[in-house]
Amino acid sequence: MKVRLLLCLVICLSTLGSAHSARAKQFHVVDAGDTLWDISRSYGCELDALREQNGLKGDALPVGRRLQIPSDSAAKKPTRVAIATEPKKRAKEKMSESTRPVKGLVVYKITSGDTLGSIAGLYDTSVDDLVSRNGLGSTAIYAGKKLKVLPGAGGTGKRFILGQSVGATNRGRLRNASRLKAGPGYFIRRPKRTYGAEHTIRNVKRAVSEVRRRHKRAHSLAVGDISAKRGGKISMHASHQSGRDIDLGFYFVKRPVGYPRSFVDATAKNLDFDATWTLLMSFVDSQSMPGGAEQIFISYETQKLLYKKARKRRISKARLAKVLQYPHGRGSRKAIVRHEPGHNEHMHVRFSCPPKDGKCK
Ligand SMILES: [Zn+2]
Repeated sequence: MKVRLLLCLVICLSTLGSAHSARAKQFHVVDAGDTLWDISRSYGCELDALREQNGLKGDALPVGRRLQIPSDSAAKKPTRVAIATEPKKRAKEKMSESTRPVKGLVVYKITSGDTLGSIAGLYDTSVDDLVSRNGLGSTAIYAGKKLKVLPGAGGTGKRFILGQSVGATNRGRLRNASRLKAGPGYFIRRPKRTYGAEHTIRNVKRAVSEVRRRHKRAHSLAVGDISAKRGGKISMHASHQSGRDIDLGFYFVKRPVGYPRSFVDATAKNLDFDATWTLLMSFVDSQSMPGGAEQIFISYETQKLLYKKARKRRISKARLAKVLQYPHGRGSRKAIVRHEPGHNEHMHVRFSCPPKDGKCK
C-alpha cells in the first residue's frame, strides 16, 4: 500500500513537472521503451482517450513522436497505477533523480481480442513468463481481468514476435502479421495485401509522416502490396512473401488522374522531387538501423530522373553515389537503390531482418 501511495506521488510530480499549468496542453515525447500503457498511467489518462487524441491505431510508438495528452486527464484522478517491483528505497531515489514514469512491473487490463501471445509481443516478454508470473493454470485469458507484466522479461521461453518474417522474401511466410491499416497521408490499393513484419509497417508509417510534416501540400501516397496475411506467394510478385517488401508510388506536382488508386509513371514534368526524395531518404537513412531498409528497387531511367533533379538541388555526387546507381551503370553495386525493370511507377523497398530473429533470412 505504501508503495502505491509513493507511486501516486511520483506520478503527480511528473504530471506537474511536465505541465506549466493544469489547463495548458500537455505533451509527451516518446522515449525508447515507453509504452502507451506507461504513458497513460503516468498522466492519469485513459488509454483509449490517449489513442483517440493522437489518432493511434495500433500499439507501435515511434521514438521521438510527440503525443498530446487528453486535456481532461489532469482533472481526473489517476487511475490505479503500475505496481513497482523495486523496494521503497529505490523508488524514492528514482523520484529524486528523475520525474520519468517508473519502469518495472505493470498491470495490464485484458481487452477482448488479446491473447497471451499478443500481450507478450507488446511488452517484449514471453508467454511462459506471463503464465508463471500470474500463476495461470492455462493460457486462456478473459477480458477485464488484470495481468502482471514485466516488460522485457522475454527469453525465459518461446519468444513471441509480432509480425514475424519467416524465411526469404521470395520463399517465405509471415507469422502473427502486423497490418498497415488506413491512415493519414496514404492510400491502400489492396487491403488484403497490407500485412507485414512489424518493422516494415513502422518504417513505412514513419516515412509517410515525415513527408507529411515537411511537405504540407503533398497528396496521398499510393501504397501497393506488402504481403498476404500469412505470407507466401501472391500473384504478380516473386518476392513480397515474408512481410519485408513494400511497393510505394511517387509524389507528383499535380496528382495525376487515377492516382493513388493506380501507380503512375514518374516523368521529369510531373514528379514532385522534394516529397519523393524525403520519402526515399527516410528509407535510405533507416539502413543503419536494425530492421531498416536493405535495398530499394527503382528502374534505372527513373533513377536518372531523380539524379538530375537532385543535382539541381545541389545534392553532392558523393551523397548520390551512395543512394543511386545512376550514372554508374545498372550493374553498379555501391548504392542502396538498384535497377529493376518495371519500377518506373513505384519504388519497392525491402527491409532487413530484425536482429535476434533467427527465422528471418
Ligand atoms: Zn514490389
